[in-house]
Amino acid sequence: MNIDLHKKRIVIKIGTSSLTYESGQLNYRHIEEMTNVICDLKNMGNQVVLVSSGASGVGLGKLGLSKKPDESSKKRVLAAAGQSGLMAMYESFFGRYNCKVAQILLTKSVLNDAEKAESIQKSFEEMFNYGVLPIINENDVIASDKPDSNDVFGDNDTLSACVAVFVKADLLIIWSDIDGLYDKDPRSHEDAKFIPVVEKVTEEIYNMAGGAGTARGKGGMLTKLNAARIANESGVDMVIANSSKPELLYDMVEGKSVGTLFKASVQQ
Ligand code: GLU
Repeated sequence: MNIDLHKKRIVIKIGTSSLTYESGQLNYRHIEEMTNVICDLKNMGNQVVLVSSGASGVGLGKLGLSKKPDESSKKRVLAAAGQSGLMAMYESFFGRYNCKVAQILLTKSVLNDAEKAESIQKSFEEMFNYGVLPIINENDVIASDKPDSNDVFGDNDTLSACVAVFVKADLLIIWSDIDGLYDKDPRSHEDAKFIPVVEKVTEEIYNMAGGAGTARGKGGMLTKLNAARIANESGVDMVIANSSKPELLYDMVEGKSVGTLFKASVQQ
């Protein structure tokens, strides 16, 4: 695939399914491996932004609930309690490698508001100057939960693509629990063929996305393809790679083909 990641601006998205076991408990060994690679990429000179889900998942454990409540106001409590727990977890893991982290919670309207967007833009640049790792999530406590609202990203695949476009990233990496895009859902079709490169997210590509997500995160392949479309149309390459092998990012650095690459259709 030949992406030269050296000294590049990279947005990495981690989903709830990469952070937790099926039971919803945090997968500390995996988190350790992922944070290790992220710190290394930073130390190699890259500017990294992390978009992390998991607030609601961590909130469930913190409040001792076995499933998400139906009421919106209760879900918000879950997200608020979980977000601080999530950041405490990241402070601890990244702190082991002396990597400073900062939290940014976004809503769609904030990025669409010129004045606020400018403040955030400047904050990102200063964080890169300070060598701080920005960790982004949607501000689930104030984001609208109305299905027809246009002030909600709704899922972190979309959020990560909007962030990648916003910071003019060289690459968006969506870490998932699958290797990339297949022509059919590999969980139910043994003969599913892996697609290493997608030149354009067409109708045919959408037809391949048989909902290969998990019950724990909000995103599936469909939201990842939407993310690819948003990123590619603004000049950002995107890769879906398996988070269970974080060291694959080193292979990407060496120009090896990893995961599925969705190629930008325009130059930034
Ligand atoms: N913002 C949600 C959370 O942190 C995650 C959304 C998603 O899974 O895409 O719980």
